[in-house]
Amino acid sequence: QKKTKQHEFRAEVKQLLDILANSLYTNKEIFVRELVSNASDALDKVRFEINRGAEVRDKDLPLEIRISCDKEKKLLTITDTGLGLTEEEAINNLGTIAKSGSAEFMEQMAGEQNNLEGIIGKFGVGFYSVFMAAEKVVVKSQSYLPEAGPVAWSSDGSGVFELEDLEPGRQRGTVIEVHLKDDELSFAEADRLKDIIKRHSNFIGFPIYVEDEQVNTIPAIWREPKFSLKQEQYNEFYKFLTFDSQDPFETIHISVDAPVQFNALLFIPQTSHDMPGFNQERPGVDLYVQRVLIQKGNKDLIPEYLGFVRGVVDSEDLPLNISRETLQENLVLGKIAKNLTKQVVSHLQKMADKEPERYLEFWREHGKTFKLGYMDFANRERYAELLRFNSSASDDAEGLTSLAEYVERKKTDQNDIYYVSGPSREAFELNPHMEIFRKKGVEVLYLFEPLDEFALEALAKYKEYNFKSVEHADTKDLDKFESTEEDKKQTPLSSEDKEVFDRFLEHVKDVLGDRVTKVKVSTRLSDSPCCLVNPDDGMTSSMQKIMHIVNK
Ligand code: ADP
Ligand code: MG
Repeated sequence: QKKTKQHEFRAEVKQLLDILANSLYTNKEIFVRELVSNASDALDKVRFEINRGAEVRDKDLPLEIRISCDKEKKLLTITDTGLGLTEEEAINNLGTIAKSGSAEFMEQMAGEQNNLEGIIGKFGVGFYSVFMAAEKVVVKSQSYLPEAGPVAWSSDGSGVFELEDLEPGRQRGTVIEVHLKDDELSFAEADRLKDIIKRHSNFIGFPIYVEDEQVNTIPAIWREPKFSLKQEQYNEFYKFLTFDSQDPFETIHISVDAPVQFNALLFIPQTSHDMPGFNQERPGVDLYVQRVLIQKGNKDLIPEYLGFVRGVVDSEDLPLNISRETLQENLVLGKIAKNLTKQVVSHLQKMADKEPERYLEFWREHGKTFKLGYMDFANRERYAELLRFNSSASDDAEGLTSLAEYVERKKTDQNDIYYVSGPSREAFELNPHMEIFRKKGVEVLYLFEPLDEFALEALAKYKEYNFKSVEHADTKDLDKFESTEEDKKQTPLSSEDKEVFDRFLEHVKDVLGDRVTKVKVSTRLSDSPCCLVNPDDGMTSSMQKIMHIVNK
């Protein structure tokens, strides 16, 4: 006496299914990648349970993925020996949008209705992508939990799905039966499937068999010696890992033996995948222990300011049964993280020294994230060397200078590095504080983002030079520099003028009252009649604006 229960998909799944069904997306084969990656996730999870000594059904089953097909029956079947699904999990996990692929896809859709093609490929749409090729899908599963019974989930991808109990006696894992649409029967051809797996799933860490022939190669490429690897292999692995269609911008392969042992294969993408306004989580890096995947997207190994880094880290020095909860406090993990950060930063430093143009390319793409590193005291000096700014020495807003270059150009006897904050170069042209710097030909760093000023304030100095806002600049410091020719034509105040000015200043002070501390005659202005100056220890006006918003 079988019992069948019908359930409705959650609203957002219906919406997603609708988009997929109506999309003219041609690269439908990615659904195979999605199903194989789910199978691999399920295998990772069950291996994790076995390693930590949990009670697991069919403990000795080989961990593998098997794919078979039958064109006559229009059927493609993907079987794994992973952790399986209980009835409740089937309802919850296959009836709603899970955390990664599809959820991100839906967010993207909200913003970029027209660019469906690009988004499907880039993020992967998860399990539901199967409905691009299937008219019906049946998922039969036996959970690893000893007390759970087998269950079948099925749907034709319209509004509902059905659940049914199965006869007991199945082995652990999940079988996904994909009943193909009439015009998608090529997915029931073994050669086509082998080709798809080679291209999309070659680095999956479990054997994948198509009609009993193993198709993937499973090298833990990060553990191979560097000299044995070609850039193409790195690129292939990067694309497998990230779904990025471009090659990586930079590949960093690290092997460390002391004080902790680890291998890491890290990549910097060509394009930052930050979508402004989407508040995406940063991807993190995948943590392996002794070649076994422990955690995807670990965020503790790479600091936020290197958040663009993708890749894997593998250590012999962590226990296999480490729990994800205690990872964060693990000392070995902390050491690895410290070392990784140092290595990435010095890699960037090398690039900046040897290939400055290429470094600027990096900076334009990822500099916004990198700037967040002002809190990393351990790497502070290198961080400062790696910063880039637009400045009054550049011809346009595209030009970039390092602090080292600024110091090379600075005036003899100049002890400060000057900066000004604002929205644009045009705004700086109109800023009265800038007049004296133009007059004296003293370079000023242009800070376009609030973060720039936070970074400089946190650093306080570069080498022996203090960072100083033009608003805080003391005219005495600047007066010692020789003026440009034009400036020399200005005549000094006569004593008569001075008297008149003194009376005028008193009047201004009366009018402004407590709003200012002092009113004085300035030599810093030539075109503007007056300007507001900050006391030396006060906040700059842009910082005041930020604090004003923060405190609201
Ligand atoms: P994601 O993989 O990003 O979580 P998917 O849409 O690909 O999202 O899958 C949804 C969920 O369905 C998974 O999180 C998992 O819980 C479950 N699932 C899918 N395939 C399998 C499988 N082969 N074995 C066990 N669980 C699975
Ligand atoms: Mg998935």
